[in-house]
Amino acid sequence: MRQGKTMKAYRLKGIGCLEYEDVPLPELLPGWVLVKVGAAGICGSDLPRIFETGTYHFPTIPGHEFAGTVVDACDEEGRSWIGKRVGIFPLIPCQKCFTCREGQYEMCRDYDYLGSRRDGGFAEYAAVPVWNLMELPDRMTMEEAAMLEPASVALHAVRRLTLHPSDTVALFGLGTIGLIITQWLRIRGITEVYAVGHNPGHGECMKRTAWPGYRYQNSVSPDRVSAAGALSVSAVSESDADPVAWIMEQTGGKGVSVAIDCAGTTESVTNCLNSVRPGGQLLLVGNPKGEMAFDQASYWKILRHQIRVTGTWNSMFHHNNGDDWHCVADAVADGELHLSELITHRLPFDGLLRGLAIEREHTEYFNKIMIFGGCG
Ligand SMILES: [Zn+2]
Ligand SMILES: [Zn+2]
Repeated sequence: MRQGKTMKAYRLKGIGCLEYEDVPLPELLPGWVLVKVGAAGICGSDLPRIFETGTYHFPTIPGHEFAGTVVDACDEEGRSWIGKRVGIFPLIPCQKCFTCREGQYEMCRDYDYLGSRRDGGFAEYAAVPVWNLMELPDRMTMEEAAMLEPASVALHAVRRLTLHPSDTVALFGLGTIGLIITQWLRIRGITEVYAVGHNPGHGECMKRTAWPGYRYQNSVSPDRVSAAGALSVSAVSESDADPVAWIMEQTGGKGVSVAIDCAGTTESVTNCLNSVRPGGQLLLVGNPKGEMAFDQASYWKILRHQIRVTGTWNSMFHHNNGDDWHCVADAVADGELHLSELITHRLPFDGLLRGLAIEREHTEYFNKIMIFGGCG
């Protein structure tokens, strides 16, 4: 079916130069399948990738958060997937390095990546290795499946922590990953979470209470209330306050036992260090927004307060139950994890440039912006 056929795709031809055009259908190799893209989300990391740093070579079709239906293959293994709805783990591990051999593919030394190192999901079709496919449960929608990746990244982050329901948590940065982390914390039975967000360009401050003990402080537009409302977060307006002082006040001067940074700035990590109690944990999730530098007093805190600092990267995909991706699918199917509610914009397939403009210019509140292909 592929001979001479073309598809619509967004090709990055240089930094900031993303063109919507007709391109040949992807070539298929043995062990790979052709996926008709059903839904593809814009990730926060796509903005610097498209507009600042570029991909590893040009042209490349970006988009690593996507799901679809397998429509073609060139070998028996692949053909057994035709017709199946699939989620797609975008990291293609080398399978040879020592971390791969230990099954920790997210730390592969020599990986390929759909949507940055090779063509991804901002296209009508994408070529994907069978190894990277996950068959979707019937109850999972295509848009939820396109959020398997960020939801798995969020779960992977939470799994780096040692958690007890009595833990108190401060979370800085409320993009998609941050908001999904708050859900995983709730699923883990943690009721005392202080969430701090900042959305430049929107001056309103909100404080929200989601469930008993849950506190939220944010500088956002009122639209964010609807996304948070979906997480059963109720909002109370508050003046622009120092988040550390607020957290200290809420915790009786002790600080939280766990601080999570999902923003990736010197300010947000410093706020984490100043919010966490002696003997607490600091989890670093957010991609750094630029060079970071910490004052001596903050660094001393790590030493004197014996803070356990933990990093997290990507997610674990193993093809079996218990990995991050299958746990996300189960939690969505069980109605515990709510992903659709984080989608603020559902755009047609030709609306990607509009979605990117919304994220770049912050003209309106957004969380997950998704484009949709032909199959639902
Ligand atoms: Zn991403
Ligand atoms: Zn490897």
